[in-house]
Amino acid sequence: MALDKKKIKEKLEKERDMLVGQLKDMGKLNPETGEWEATPEERDYQESDQNDMADRFEDFEERSSMIKDLEPRLKNILDALKKLARDSFGKCQVCKKNIEGTRMEANPAAKTCKKHLNG
Ligand SMILES: [Zn+2]
Repeated sequence: MALDKKKIKEKLEKERDMLVGQLKDMGKLNPETGEWEATPEERDYQESDQNDMADRFEDFEERSSMIKDLEPRLKNILDALKKLARDSFGKCQVCKKNIEGTRMEANPAAKTCKKHLNG
């Protein structure tokens, strides 16, 4: 069965938009590095309260770690979208054979076939 590239592209774009939306909630894209950076949650600027400052710091740490988790996922999606336009899309990085259609539908950013899933 041939891969439905259009359907996969739509799915990837949807996922990309979702990830970008989540990233935007927690940080901003640094145009110089192309990396997402956490931004502190905007609150009233009365930092005299020690507890509040600690909260803000914790919050910032949490955002940073979430961004670290989301960013590679976004990169994978963007990679897959780029590849979608090329012949290498849907081919296993290891054996160069076509990746199973069911696997591509479940995870359009997949880079390997089921056999080479774990390295
Ligand atoms: Zn393979």
